Amino acid sequence: MNVLVINCGSSSLKYQLINSDTEAVLAKGLCERIGIDGRLVYQKTGLDKEITEAAMPTHKQAIQLVLDALVNPNTGAIANLSEIEAVGHRVVHGGEKFATSTVLTDEVIAAIEECNDLAPLHNPANLIGIRACQELMPNVPMVAVFDTAFHQTMPDVAYMYGLPYEYYEKYGVRRYGFHGTSHSFVSKRAAEIVGKNYEDLKIIVCHLGNGASICAVDHGKSVDTSMGLTPLEGLIMGTRSGDVDPSILDFIAQKENLTLPQVMNVLNKKSGVEGISGVSSDFRDIEAAAKEGNKRAALAQQTFAYRVIKYVGAYAAAMNGVDVICFTAGLGENDCKIREMVMNNLGYLGVEVNAEVNNATRGKEAVISTADSKVTCLAIPTNEELAICRETVALV
Ligand code: AMP
Repeated sequence: MNVLVINCGSSSLKYQLINSDTEAVLAKGLCERIGIDGRLVYQKTGLDKEITEAAMPTHKQAIQLVLDALVNPNTGAIANLSEIEAVGHRVVHGGEKFATSTVLTDEVIAAIEECNDLAPLHNPANLIGIRACQELMPNVPMVAVFDTAFHQTMPDVAYMYGLPYEYYEKYGVRRYGFHGTSHSFVSKRAAEIVGKNYEDLKIIVCHLGNGASICAVDHGKSVDTSMGLTPLEGLIMGTRSGDVDPSILDFIAQKENLTLPQVMNVLNKKSGVEGISGVSSDFRDIEAAAKEGNKRAALAQQTFAYRVIKYVGAYAAAMNGVDVICFTAGLGENDCKIREMVMNNLGYLGVEVNAEVNNATRGKEAVISTADSKVTCLAIPTNEELAICRETVALV
């Protein structure tokens, strides 16, 4: 079955066409600057990437251009649109309504819309993509795969904040967690790699990218995760602050004469390793600057790693032990220095690093702990598109 996987943002849209039988990517790309001027990036597997400046005032027009590219007689991946047999949509927030992926119906769309308050930057854009696809491919079954769904197994002690209970009852203020598709994919793959039952393992997944989160997966279920009501909580990220003392918001607002939305903008877009280093949100730039003696860049790196170390410790405690620790996403897959900084502080758990393998591992699966290590450490490339494809096939 050919599945079109769509990840729709407010002005951009990523897509992959995947053959679910072979799990091969047939074509992939993105639409950028939707509603502004428009650029289509398209790549059929095995051919060069094509970049076309093309007007796309609406998401529907952007998706139409993707479909045209997929059936282009010269560079298309399929002969006609009937070969797209299902569409899988990434949806950021499913609130408490969705604990699993779901076939899209009018009722499901209405329920997603009710979660818009919880993710005002993401859910409305996801819905625009869903509706545009439905208009262009009215007879193709579609599935919503939620970033939050995997974490719906968290117990109440992990998701409650120490706030008046009525905020939870009235507005759903609680921890939801994100990156669920990645945490699920990577933890399942970890069980395959170590050759044990998923349901028998205590796994910590460190998804370390520009957005970063950690998840405790106890006997196949997410029991805690570092992102909260929104993706701002938890680890220090590229430009997001992660955990801060909530009183800082008011303090900075007064000192800098800022409104609350302006302070939130600082926390989301001007903080994290970029804020600390003053160099960049990209760890490659930060690492290069640190090597040249930039002290704030080195501090950003160390502070990032320190927060990861603290969360791993917290989740080992929450699960009363840990068997496997996984590193994934841009940094987790590629940055051996950060992985080493983290693992070197986990000796108390029985982690022994295989430095040689760790140093040689970039963008591929590897066991990066020694054979004697009490906890197995793994680098595992995440693949959210493939996970969405699998969920879609399972449901249609
Ligand atoms: P992601 O959000 O998962 O795409 O991850 C993006 C982040 O991964 C970037 O900010 C980079 O800092 C980091 N990254 C990607 N490749 C490398 C690499 N080879 N070495 C170090 N960091 C990397």
